Amino acid sequence: MPVVTLSDVQMNVVRPNEPVLGRVVKNEICTASRKAAGIVRHIEIDVSATPLAGAFRVGQAFGVIPPGVTPKGKPEKVRLYSIACPSAGEDGAGAVLATTVKRTIDEHWDDHRLFLGVASNYLCDAQIGDEIKVSGPNGKRFLLPIDFNDHDYVFVATGTGIAPYRGMVKELLGAGCTRSITLVMGAPYHTDLLYHDEFESLQASHSNFTYLTAVSRETNADGARGLYVHDRLERDFDRVRTEFEAGGVMLYICGILGMELGIYQTLAGCLGSENLGQFLHVTPEALADPASWTRPMLRKEIKPTSRVLVEVY
Ligand code: NAP
Repeated sequence: MPVVTLSDVQMNVVRPNEPVLGRVVKNEICTASRKAAGIVRHIEIDVSATPLAGAFRVGQAFGVIPPGVTPKGKPEKVRLYSIACPSAGEDGAGAVLATTVKRTIDEHWDDHRLFLGVASNYLCDAQIGDEIKVSGPNGKRFLLPIDFNDHDYVFVATGTGIAPYRGMVKELLGAGCTRSITLVMGAPYHTDLLYHDEFESLQASHSNFTYLTAVSRETNADGARGLYVHDRLERDFDRVRTEFEAGGVMLYICGILGMELGIYQTLAGCLGSENLGQFLHVTPEALADPASWTRPMLRKEIKPTSRVLVEVY
């Protein structure tokens, strides 16, 4: 079984207390339709004149420092955003990075007044040419392996968790990866699928890339209603069974907190215990009844191996 060695990365080339200025060069809706339940934008920032240029790698994040002060009068702190482009950036020279931002629009719990997320709305409001204080790069765990052609890939996303995979899929295909790459994307409605046309077009032009969707609040193309990503993985498991059973899959999970457990339960249901062991170390007691697994058991009774990379919030 090929050993997993992740790419080498630089961290904190630019610190948040001494940020540099990037310039917005693109800001556009990236939901499948303007009728989507949430507003999500694809934003590109030119960092060419800064030490961030060429310093970030796919899978990392970068920092944004919003202007202004908090209600307590303190300067706004850095917020981290996943990089949504390959290591070479949007421009091919590592000078334009991209991210995927959902506007946070909510109510205050105590007095039900409107709550607008400071950084997400600042970024989504940004106009072409606006300067943004940026820092980073950040993150050294959610990366592609160095020997990318030694592995197959299953990327599972919910909502804006798709951001790093846009970069990773493009990076792998652009580098001529010949292994199997499967992306499973979950969204509440078809209108909320992100970068949908882009992934469909990548699937049409690359026979080793499969794009699967799980829509949770509508009927899916296969007639199933209310699918979560683990349901889609289970229904389509035969597409990736060979790769999983050979133990060569790198499994990436990114998005909402709750998604992780269901994916592990699906793996336990679809793989024999010998094959499951490549991805999860499970105590014999837990292995006896995957249906009873709960979140507190994660990383105690159920531990992902180095083939499983997780970024959930
Ligand atoms: P969203 O559009 O609301 O989509 C989330 C989807 O997941 C919905 O279809 C939802 O279904 C479904 N879902 C709910 N519970 C689930 C479960 N237990 N298992 C599987 N699917 C489930 O998502 P969003 O608002 O963009 O949120 C994305 C999350 O990803 C945020 O929490 C964000 O912080 C995180 N994120 C992390 C990173 C990172 O770590 N680098 C990057 C980007 C985003 P229903 O609502 O219909 O139940």
